[in-house]
Amino acid sequence: MARRLIYDNHNHSQFSFDGSRTSVREAAAQAEKTGLAGLCFTDHCDFFVPKEKAAHENERPEVFDVASQQMEIDRCREEFSQIGIFKGVEIGMYRDCRDNIRKFLTEHSFDQVIASVHYLDGTDPFYGGYYQGRDWKQAYGHYLETIYEEMTWLGDFDIMGHFDYVARYAPYPQESIFYKDFSDLFDLMLGYLAREGKALEINTKSYQDYKGRTPELDKNILLRYKELGGEVISLGSDSHNPGRVGDKFGFYSEFIKSLGFKYLAHFEERKLIQQSI
Ligand SMILES: [Zn+2]
Repeated sequence: MARRLIYDNHNHSQFSFDGSRTSVREAAAQAEKTGLAGLCFTDHCDFFVPKEKAAHENERPEVFDVASQQMEIDRCREEFSQIGIFKGVEIGMYRDCRDNIRKFLTEHSFDQVIASVHYLDGTDPFYGGYYQGRDWKQAYGHYLETIYEEMTWLGDFDIMGHFDYVARYAPYPQESIFYKDFSDLFDLMLGYLAREGKALEINTKSYQDYKGRTPELDKNILLRYKELGGEVISLGSDSHNPGRVGDKFGFYSEFIKSLGFKYLAHFEERKLIQQSI
């Protein structure tokens, strides 16, 4: 598949609290240079602030300035007219913040919404608090269960973000999340996505080395999704610097093609567009 047909649906810019190493302009320039069809900026919106995070860096909710982000995207659309540049958000789902989340999504318009879990049970997996007192099976299972509960409550989203985020920063020798270990939960999650026509994200940031651990993507998760009727797959680099825009997309688009998937998805004004691969 020609790179010109592939979209990177998950990128952070200077408008995310942790995106200061890049900008909309630099990431768009990189997408154009490397031959992507386009990209979507999905800056962070997390209303909950875990105590580990408040102590280290940030005490305020991680909500970005939507008007400024969208104005900058409009400006870059003119400068980089060869590619599609889309307006998105990565909404951090959290039970106690449901009202804020619903209100935020009602008040703003996006091309695409990614629903993710970054924090749960008052903890932040990135800083490790979440894993204390849990073995790998409990930690991964509870994370998946939380995504399922929150996304089925939310409903108003297009892409389920990085289901394996919890494995990225985990301390266990068990590096990856496999279908066989959580088949009941995956059946619920993948069945929901398939029925609702929402996208399963392949987030390529999860499959890079982090402190000597490299989680892998279990093909059985994708095969089960297909079996349940799912055909909407979104590729996202989760880039926080321009060098990672479209990272490993050649490999993962071939990978999903080899499993029998026919399309790659992106969203414009919340409408699903399927590109043949
Ligand atoms: Zn995320």
